[in-house]
Amino acid sequence: MLIVSEETCQEVVGRSDAFTAIENIFAAMARGDAYNFPVIREAIGHADALYGFKSGFDRAGLVLGVKAGGYWPDNMKKNLTNHQSTVFLFDPDTGRISAVVAGNYLTAVRTAASSSVSIAHLSRNESKVLGMIGAGHQSKFQLRAAVEQRDFEKVVAWNVHPEMLPSLGEVATQLGLPFEAVELDQLGAQADVIISITSAFEPLLMNGWVKPGTHVACMGTDTAGKQEVDPALLGRATVFTDEIAQAISIGECQHAVQSGQLSENDITAIGEVINQTHPGRTSDDEITLFDGTGVGLQDLAVASVAANLAASRGKAREVDF
Ligand code: NAD
Repeated sequence: MLIVSEETCQEVVGRSDAFTAIENIFAAMARGDAYNFPVIREAIGHADALYGFKSGFDRAGLVLGVKAGGYWPDNMKKNLTNHQSTVFLFDPDTGRISAVVAGNYLTAVRTAASSSVSIAHLSRNESKVLGMIGAGHQSKFQLRAAVEQRDFEKVVAWNVHPEMLPSLGEVATQLGLPFEAVELDQLGAQADVIISITSAFEPLLMNGWVKPGTHVACMGTDTAGKQEVDPALLGRATVFTDEIAQAISIGECQHAVQSGQLSENDITAIGEVINQTHPGRTSDDEITLFDGTGVGLQDLAVASVAANLAASRGKAREVDF
């Protein structure tokens, strides 16, 4: 069995490795070659923590496993990331464990790859302004991955806690992009691509603020009750997601489906666009919206890449088990 640490994951898995792994797994899901098992997520009644499992099987890539972990809100005070997770991979031929892979960096890099895949396949080629809603841990990974997909010339950003914006601005500066903190209506008026990655429980971005032709990646909503955008925006947009069942239950789509502004049949798995069985964006005026709910197969895909790369570079610890 291999053990792959956080440090090694950061060393061996780059953004382009994650992009390829996520694009491939979305494609496999849409072909029916890979499927996610039901998600378990529980408030454990201790340390205010949410803990659960995401798992699945990629029959084409022969990747079987589970990500265990969750959210510990007080971890920051202990100098630890609030999200903590570990991926366990199993040999699909025997059921024997093959690797234990640290999941914190991989979660961030796979979530950024997910919105990045959506930008690559759905946004207008000439997109110039990137709008960021949220300035927490994930937002910096999102920004770095997004700017690799289009020739952005500027970043505009909003966060409910404005004191968090300068650290996101520093990343934009490192990337050579001007950065401006704006109100949300201005963000909608300027941005060609918008990424939302917050822990909000109410709509932040209203339909009327978003201009025609925009691509919106909603990445924060991964639990029942969470919400980042006006449901009317989902009614107006062409809506894509990683997994339809998860989008309507715990993703951004949950609210628009509940209010009748969107039907399940109107939602397309992004894998279909990747596999070219759906045309994706069909006009420059169309608003495309990607509901990135975060599925277990994404975690398994990047963990498998991490285990393989770490093993081939002699960076994994091998133990008898
Ligand atoms: P974080 O705690 O570092 O940052 C949280 C962000 O949300 C900050 O910008 C904060 O100001 C903002 N925020 C907090 N409460 C808010 C509110 N009530 N209204 C508006 N904004 C609010 O968290 P993070 O690691 O950056 O994660 C951000 C979100 O992304 C979380 O909700 C997390 O569950 C979600 N997430 C989704 C996926 C996925 O695959 N879709 C993966 C990882 C994290």
